[in-house]
Amino acid sequence: MDSVSTPRFTLSPNPSPVSPERRAEVLANLGFGKVFTDHMAIIRYTAGQGWHDPVIRAYAPLSLDPAAAVLHYAQEIFEGMKAYRTAQGGITLFRPDANARRFRKSAERMAMAELPEDLFVEAVCQLVTVDREWVPARPDESLYIRPFMIASEAFLGVKPASEYLFMVIASPVGAYFGEQAVSVWVSEYCRAAPGGTGEAKCGGNYAASLMAQKEAKGHGCAQVLFLDAVERRWIEEMGGMNVFFVLDDGSLLTPPLTGTILRGITRDSILRIARDQGLTVREEPYAIEQMYADAASGRLKEAFACGTAAVISPIGRFRGKQGEVVIGDGMSIGPVAEKLRASLIGIQRGTSPDPYGWVR
Ligand code: PMP
Repeated sequence: MDSVSTPRFTLSPNPSPVSPERRAEVLANLGFGKVFTDHMAIIRYTAGQGWHDPVIRAYAPLSLDPAAAVLHYAQEIFEGMKAYRTAQGGITLFRPDANARRFRKSAERMAMAELPEDLFVEAVCQLVTVDREWVPARPDESLYIRPFMIASEAFLGVKPASEYLFMVIASPVGAYFGEQAVSVWVSEYCRAAPGGTGEAKCGGNYAASLMAQKEAKGHGCAQVLFLDAVERRWIEEMGGMNVFFVLDDGSLLTPPLTGTILRGITRDSILRIARDQGLTVREEPYAIEQMYADAASGRLKEAFACGTAAVISPIGRFRGKQGEVVIGDGMSIGPVAEKLRASLIGIQRGTSPDPYGWVR
């Protein structure tokens, strides 16, 4: 292929893409986030000039000035989304406009250049189109897409950078946790404080959560639950997922969006589907001691985490300084979570109708 121009992106094809045989071998043994497709999308930003030189080119290491602001002051944001292979062989994206909007809001919070939402979606679509052979086809598999932006200006003064690099890379992935219930460690570390960056999807939030994650592993837990930073008792979210509870009156409860938790797109979709299925949905604060009491009394029927990577992942037990509680049988997904999961996956993969217009 010679270089050809898409509406806005220059395509500079990878001269040595992975062979179809090797790709088939990789797709037969998927893990999470270790292999990447043949190409990446890049758009540069320079103050005074705006966004320029959009290109899709061979996936390769970056050359970055050691003084690039991101390496010192962590001006970095990212998104996580997926492309799915439908039964008919087509490819769908789930609510890419919602990721584009959240990305722009994250940029605003981190004083970074705001990428127009249509350009974000176009970059994702162009990359997925060029690397479409990498979208795996088995159930639970997908192409994980990672748009991100870094401050690339070489300057050691502490100020919002005047140059940025927006990029999209993609990685074929298998099932994340599967349907087996996970154990969750209730952390004493805080993830986000009022007025902080909890609602932004910036790398720094995740760096700050790793110690809690490490601690969770040490206590035999796969995931970590964070409480609010002020009273240290209100349930907020997990390290990389939002959290839901199902009570014995059939209602679905999730912490409200108060600015310290991420506005999960899966969370939002579940709330919408649940309401339409006739469930009573409550976006209300839930105290950790109440959760322990409800689990002990049997009032708490199900708990699950949700996010792009795992869709819905049942929680089998919470463990923390206050002790341990088992939810349900501690192992399997509950009926409410199971039904929501099936509805959402059906829409994402095109096996059920999409009354919301979420799929592209
Ligand atoms: N909370 C955090 C901290 C996350 O990193 C994620 C994953 N993006 C989520 C919640 C879930 O968000 P989404 O449903 O948009 O993937």
